Amino acid sequence: MDRKKIISIQDSQLIKFRNALREVVFNAYIIELETLIAESRNLTIESNLDRIKYLADKMDKLRTAWKISIYTCSLCGSRTSDMVFNIFFKIWFCIECYGKNQKFYRKKGEEGEIWYDESTSHVPSTRWYP
Ligand SMILES: [Zn+2]
Repeated sequence: MDRKKIISIQDSQLIKFRNALREVVFNAYIIELETLIAESRNLTIESNLDRIKYLADKMDKLRTAWKISIYTCSLCGSRTSDMVFNIFFKIWFCIECYGKNQKFYRKKGEEGEIWYDESTSHVPSTRWYP
């Protein structure tokens, strides 16, 4: 995806369906995470270090997958909002959080860019929320 994308649903039945689907996915995420946590708690570092590392890596990947998914806002955690895909960060925000950040960075850009140095190859912060 190379352009800002907004997924907005107006129909109340579809909103209920979307929210219910997100709840199902969230519950599956929590169950899997709790299963991994429970297994890692029963292991000792002395005899199961490799397994503990494997489980920690799996939990980290699971949390990251959830955090960047369209099922939740990566800032406020809302699971009931319309979403906007941020092309710079490659994650989804709810429309409210995206709007707040967009307004903030535009204002900062107008006041004078403070996160951008011409001598670096960094992307100006005004492009973080197009
Ligand atoms: Zn949000």
